[in-house]
Amino acid sequence: MTFWFITGSQAMYGEETLRQVDADSRAIAAGLKLPFPVVYKLTAKSNAEIVQIIREANYDDDCAGIITFCHTFSPSKMWINGLNLLQKPWLHFHTQFNETIPNDEIDMDYMNLHQSAHGDREHGFIGARMRQPRAIVAGFWKDPAVQAQIADWQRAAVGVQFSRNLKIVRFGDNMREVAVTEGDKVEAQMQLGWQVNTWAVGDLVKEMNTVTDAEIDALMQEYAALYTYDEADADTIRYQAREEIAIERILKREGAMAFSNTFEDLWGMEQLPGLASQHLMHKGYGFGAEGDWKTAGMTAVIKAMYPDGAASFMEDYTYDYSRELILGSHMLEVCPSIAAEKPRIEVHPLGIGHKAPPARVVFEGKAGAAKAVSLIDAGGRLRLIVQDVTCEKPFQNMPNLPVARTMWRPEPSFREGLECWLRAGGAHHTVLSYDISDDTIRDWARIMKIELVCINAQTKPEVLERDLMLGDLIWHR
Ligand code: MN
Repeated sequence: MTFWFITGSQAMYGEETLRQVDADSRAIAAGLKLPFPVVYKLTAKSNAEIVQIIREANYDDDCAGIITFCHTFSPSKMWINGLNLLQKPWLHFHTQFNETIPNDEIDMDYMNLHQSAHGDREHGFIGARMRQPRAIVAGFWKDPAVQAQIADWQRAAVGVQFSRNLKIVRFGDNMREVAVTEGDKVEAQMQLGWQVNTWAVGDLVKEMNTVTDAEIDALMQEYAALYTYDEADADTIRYQAREEIAIERILKREGAMAFSNTFEDLWGMEQLPGLASQHLMHKGYGFGAEGDWKTAGMTAVIKAMYPDGAASFMEDYTYDYSRELILGSHMLEVCPSIAAEKPRIEVHPLGIGHKAPPARVVFEGKAGAAKAVSLIDAGGRLRLIVQDVTCEKPFQNMPNLPVARTMWRPEPSFREGLECWLRAGGAHHTVLSYDISDDTIRDWARIMKIELVCINAQTKPEVLERDLMLGDLIWHR
């Protein structure tokens, strides 16, 4: 993925000034130390040039977004036709080539060349006038804090590109009677690009029956490198390997990066996929239990933004009021990317689903700041709810709870955090991410044009309640 750097100017400054603008723009683009490369494309001087470069950006699958900057004044009516066509994420970078104002050197020629304070205001006006979704970053281009803000937007833009191509495979439907995991898949495809479709569990079982011992041997070696286990459990673990290989074959065949399943539809399967789903998440696939395709999709999107990050499908289970902690876990499927230390595969009975005791990876989640992310269908719109949480090392070893687990405290306080979450309609399923920043989530939601509700240290319950009512006005419901 690359990002295109486009500088705004106009022809009236003459060749010499434009040559300097070109050279400075090249230096700025090359000087940005970001997770994804920035390529300087051109200094645009006319409506036709801007339309042309934006058409090219739209059709280039490798271009994840455009960054614009007006070194000089660039009259914005020149930008209207191009911006009307723009389909890629846009960041307006309000910077300046020089950090300080030189005392002796400054004259009217200098002012004409270094006038983004002036030109970028014209550029900002047209973005606001056209109500174009855009990130705005202001500051000196060499400043690490400025570059970090652009990096956050790049992650969001990569998430946008990924989202617009995301396919989600559902094995079985929803857990019966559950509301929050339902949702409008047509709306999700229109807003997020997600293609959500179903595949028969019987066909998955057919696929499982064609998995070879050699394939299972190879996957067992991968497991052995990542996790510890007892040789006595090998047969049960091999069955999970068979499930994983079959699921991944179908995902690859369909070009899908996320999947959901449900313990209520395991026709012909001996074990609920535990280890299988956990290791697939570890490899970057999104997962949602009980038919939860929305959390499966969000897990995949966040993993695409942070390929080496820590993110998992998660469920809020039980409270400890004395320590003000939530125990987060699931009956099996938590991603080992959030583990504090080398996880262990164990085999235990499961009191639900009426199948054989499944192998699962057991571990404690790591401590640190994180966010719980929940995508819900609010009726007529999708709402993304993001809560700041602090994960702590579980204070008990819970010998009779052999599942992956973590504990966290929500913002703005334990009780208010829970009240705000329920007020906003947040699900019991979330993505727990240790990497995603406020800027990234806000950039992503803005580009996707979905409602965003952030619950953090600054949140006041009464303001949140009013914001939710304003959301109903904005989305006409
Ligand atoms: Mn669940």
